[in-house]
Amino acid sequence: MEVLAMRTVYMDHSATTPVDPEVFNEMIPFYMDQFGNASSVYSLGQNARRAVEKAREQVAELINASPKEIVFTSGGTEADNLALITYMQVNHSRGNHLITSSIEHHAILHTCEYLEKQGFEITILPVNNYGLVELNDLEKAMKPNTTLVSIMHANNEVGTIQPIKELADIAHQGGAAFHTDAVQSLGKIPVDVKDMGIDMLSGSSHKLYGPKGVGFLFVKKGIRISNFLHGGGQERKLRAGTENVPGIVGLGKAAELAGIHMPERAEKLKRLGNRLIEGIIKTIPNSRLTGHPQNRIPGSVSFCFEFVEGESILLMLDGLGIMASSGSACTSGSLDPSHVLLALGIPYEIAHGSLRLTMGKDNTDEDVDYVLEVLPSIIVNLRKMSPLCS
Ligand SMILES: *Cc1c(COP(=O)(O)O)cnc(C)c1O
Repeated sequence: MEVLAMRTVYMDHSATTPVDPEVFNEMIPFYMDQFGNASSVYSLGQNARRAVEKAREQVAELINASPKEIVFTSGGTEADNLALITYMQVNHSRGNHLITSSIEHHAILHTCEYLEKQGFEITILPVNNYGLVELNDLEKAMKPNTTLVSIMHANNEVGTIQPIKELADIAHQGGAAFHTDAVQSLGKIPVDVKDMGIDMLSGSSHKLYGPKGVGFLFVKKGIRISNFLHGGGQERKLRAGTENVPGIVGLGKAAELAGIHMPERAEKLKRLGNRLIEGIIKTIPNSRLTGHPQNRIPGSVSFCFEFVEGESILLMLDGLGIMASSGSACTSGSLDPSHVLLALGIPYEIAHGSLRLTMGKDNTDEDVDYVLEVLPSIIVNLRKMSPLCS
């Protein structure tokens, strides 16, 4: 029996990314020599303060915001919760209706469930077969009491990119503010909060080669939210607690690098993504690409394979050194197929056979070759064993 040379291929960048060495180098001093509290008056503290403020500028620049409009948080999840919950509470007298979409991350959907239990009214918009929210549907859902619309920029499972500018326009025409979860698009495609008409935007460091446990919420000047942690006056009283200085410095550097390298990374990832998509379609029968064929995040590849189980594909791939995911990382372990794939109208049985390969800056043509070399036989073998396929 021929033993394949073992490679390690990480293709799960939508779940998380490694910290860029340049980012890590920026962080190191703030754990040790520069360990000061950013609120202290002596220079050790003020060095930390300056580093936090520099990071705020770096993040603001990536999205064309002003540094004053950036609130650092513990990640994308906290940013989503902070935006939705406190905006709805603070603006309650103007209305209690929030509109979102069926393919959001659980950080949005579960927050909306919570808000509904608190008495707010929630509308969840459907998406079409590509995973796009139809502008008409948003227009129809707007009501006089709608105060907030939250639609993600790019989807974490199928990579579809939403028409944010048009959606934000509709929200504004109806007198509502517009929030977007841009965790999956930041650093991969251009995001300009002014041009796109965004009022609030959530971002996360560990999806763009920064450390885990840090993120931010952009809150446009004039938009009112409030704090849900009570304590010190950090982050303009919107996020109490001593700043995670090394983490924030890492996020800032990651944002800067993302801005610098975006064009070349996007071009490479688009090419690799298209190679992988075309290769899979050509070599694996009964496979269907999920999400939008063109309007998707560069390097994001998602498929459903009929008559196989996503989890089994993952185990076989893992045995060959390839790391990928099925559905979203948060739902694996549950038996239900991903809510995103079901929302795209993919039948239950087929949604079970989903595979997501999300490439990043360090993936190569050889990685794509390797996946294309091993994946077809994995699917053939799994289908041979499947009772669904005879
Ligand atoms: C990863 C992710 C989040 C959560 O961000 P964390 O920093 O891990 O809390 C939110 N939304 C989307 C779309 C994501 O992909």
